[in-house]
Amino acid sequence: MYNSQSHMLYYFLCNEITEYYCDHLLDMTNLYVIEIEESHITNGNLIDWLHNIEQLKMGYVDEIQETKTFIVSFPPLLNLQSDIDRIEAAEDRDVGEYAAQNWNEFSIYLGGESKFPNLHKQIPYPVDDSSILPFYDLQAFLSSSDNSYLNTINIIGNPFSYPYKAELMDLLYSIPVKKNFYLTASTACRFIKEIQQIDLPNYELYIYYEQEEASIHHILTEKQIPFHWIYLISSEKQYEDLEKLETKYGNEYVEVHPIYTGDNLPFFEENVYLAEEDILQSNYDKQDIFAHQVMNTNFWGRLSVLPDGKVYSNLNHPPLGTLKDRVYDLIVDEMKSKRAWRWIRDEVSPCKDCLFRYLCPSPSNYELVIGKPNLCHVKP
Ligand code: SF4
Repeated sequence: MYNSQSHMLYYFLCNEITEYYCDHLLDMTNLYVIEIEESHITNGNLIDWLHNIEQLKMGYVDEIQETKTFIVSFPPLLNLQSDIDRIEAAEDRDVGEYAAQNWNEFSIYLGGESKFPNLHKQIPYPVDDSSILPFYDLQAFLSSSDNSYLNTINIIGNPFSYPYKAELMDLLYSIPVKKNFYLTASTACRFIKEIQQIDLPNYELYIYYEQEEASIHHILTEKQIPFHWIYLISSEKQYEDLEKLETKYGNEYVEVHPIYTGDNLPFFEENVYLAEEDILQSNYDKQDIFAHQVMNTNFWGRLSVLPDGKVYSNLNHPPLGTLKDRVYDLIVDEMKSKRAWRWIRDEVSPCKDCLFRYLCPSPSNYELVIGKPNLCHVKP
């Protein structure tokens, strides 16, 4: 049992009697009320169980009196209007009607060189690709009527290596959403001037930290340019360096991304894998738990395009289509496939049989890259 207000979890083993009452509680038609049978009232285990539930404010026990109104409670259920499975089941409705409202983030990968060519499969990082992103297809894709719920565009890579840089900047200027630029430090230095010249509104720079931070940090803070350092960490040896960076500039400027190199699994097991205590400290509220029941909170609402014009919901899976397709069709395909947006712990073993499946964070790219569906110590 989980109290989504106090974030307390009551973890108990069922015996025959408590299991009987749990089954009744889970029956929605009982509206969260169970009647204790007279023969069970003196059962010690049951009394302890009820006492703990009351103590943790997860329920309470009341005596039935004929004159008293019976109290019921609505079990937490998802808003049925938004339940994709119901839309899918209804013959006159299409998941696209619901899905199109949820495309809110688009990542544009520019071609060029990359220091870590496969890292884009884990985190936003430049790809190593000499293709030139077809600008006019991109423009048409972004101008379609399905983008009204878009709130963020990420541009990942070196804008100076893109022949349509000026056109891209004009396009970005014309779309009133937040723009995040992911750049190396040397590119960032050149790019600052450019961005200031056109007076681009609502943007932020994400700069990969590579030891040469001091002068850039000074320029960025002096010019009040919103930015973050992205610190890539793959071993415990880097902690000292990371700590220095955070102490020097403040945590608010540093975003840490663990990276899997293929031979640092012990680092992930020690620092990224979740133990039961971590899960219990996650402090999720009711909304988070609902979200974990139907959507992947890492991927939901996000599409990406690679320099060759192929569009993805997850860069570890095959593309949904290309920039020439209708956004609507790509989203409907994604919603039905459950590849990324609806890839939840209920879909993977051993998570689907785990008590913590709605308390655990949604599956991420790390699971795909490492090749293990559950990065935890609960079910090793
Ligand atoms: S098995 Fe899956 S749901 Fe259970 S704790 Fe591990 S990652 Fe979370």
